[in-house]
Amino acid sequence: MKKKLLQQAYSPEDFRKRGHRLVDELANHLDNTLNEKSEKVIQWNLPEDEYIFWKDFMKDGDETKLFPEILKHTTHVHNPRYIGHQVSPPAPLGSLAGLISSLLNNGMAVYEMGMAPSAIERIITEFICAKIGYDENSRGFLTSGGTLANLTALLSARKAKVQHDVWNKGHHQDLGIMVYEEAHYCVDRAAKIMGLGEKGIIKIPATSNFNMDISVLEEYYQKAVKKGIKVFAIVGSAPATAVGIYDDLDAIAAFSKKYDLWFHVDGAHGGASIFSPKYQHTVQGIDQADSVVIDGHKMMMMPTITTALLYKDGNHSHTTFSQKADYLLEQSEDEDWYNLAKRTFECTKTMMSIQWYTILKTYGAGIFDEYVTTLYDLGHQFGKMIENNPQLDLAVKPMSNIVCFRFIDDSLSPSELNKINEHIRQRLLEDGEFYIVQTKLGVIYYLRTTIMNPFTTKEHLDRLLERISAIVK
Ligand SMILES: *Cc1c(COP(=O)(O)O)cnc(C)c1O
Repeated sequence: MKKKLLQQAYSPEDFRKRGHRLVDELANHLDNTLNEKSEKVIQWNLPEDEYIFWKDFMKDGDETKLFPEILKHTTHVHNPRYIGHQVSPPAPLGSLAGLISSLLNNGMAVYEMGMAPSAIERIITEFICAKIGYDENSRGFLTSGGTLANLTALLSARKAKVQHDVWNKGHHQDLGIMVYEEAHYCVDRAAKIMGLGEKGIIKIPATSNFNMDISVLEEYYQKAVKKGIKVFAIVGSAPATAVGIYDDLDAIAAFSKKYDLWFHVDGAHGGASIFSPKYQHTVQGIDQADSVVIDGHKMMMMPTITTALLYKDGNHSHTTFSQKADYLLEQSEDEDWYNLAKRTFECTKTMMSIQWYTILKTYGAGIFDEYVTTLYDLGHQFGKMIENNPQLDLAVKPMSNIVCFRFIDDSLSPSELNKINEHIRQRLLEDGEFYIVQTKLGVIYYLRTTIMNPFTTKEHLDRLLERISAIVK
């Protein structure tokens, strides 16, 4: 077999040439988006048209246009008018660190296949644990996404709190977790994967402020116990995704202690407020959690996927997937922290710790405070702007950078208002000057914004509200 293609694919000179070109293209892209030289955040295409475009491109597209076309056909999170989903505009240095991971491909399952990233991962997770307020018994690891991290934490919870060995012997009684009914859907999914079934997901209703109603915890717990369900965990959202309101973690912690439940905090989005002296009150009580999830790719400026899962008692991070009894593992804990696949769901994973380490080493922890505080400040400011606008109705006073609102008009029925707001969001999407999303709270349709870009200003937000007003007219 000739190796002509392989030689070409692995040519260092070819990599250098293409790499320089790509970095130039991406730097131009950053300039165009951050400095708003390109008008649109998104050039909206229908899915079928997009499909045909890329099918045709495979056949006869110009290969040198491939990366530029990808830029054109994606959503530009670095544009300050991107105010949509909760992914951060990555700090470019973090993205470069990601390139190292992509090229070196040290899978990190065993220490030998990723010495640096494994050791670095311990340093990073120790750093986050300390910020949470955990002591030196804490430990953590990085894993592929908040979704997987929440599942992993609930598996740890079951192992720690259910006496029967479900991991090896399967279920023999009904198990349950308690969670806010509007928590991220992945908690529900994790519980289903664990075989808890619908009845094992004890959904706690919302207060009028859109967070978990603490006053009914006792009642819901007792109801579950009466049905024969062994409740083993309670999940606090920090904050819940749709509206961005934090659960009362202190109150949940107290409740979890009363019934010896595992207390898990889903801080995928807003756990990062531990880095902001101004906003760390939002996660008051987080240090009492048995486990905490924080996504690097949400409020910490990192590229996807860079999730941290932290444990107050590090031993639990070792026992989740183990076949052996807990006491055997405790003995080997210290010698074995570096074989990461024993502790994670993944076997191979990306070297995600180097993104964290690079940002931290280069800019210091202060950059996380600047990021979170800037965006939460702006969320509060945007909330006030909406409150002061008689045409608009704020879903709830924001507690973070997530702000939900809708156009209102007394002369219109609820269903007409839903239609108008739906139309506003669709028009914005097709225009592409801004990118925002939507959510339904009960039966009411809201426009949903998450201010993720630290270079978004009050002027951008003013302009967004003007656009909405113009669309309504
Ligand atoms: C985004 C989010 C998740 C899911 O995390 P992924 O990293 O997207 O898998 C879970 N919970 C909350 C509260 C979130 O905001």
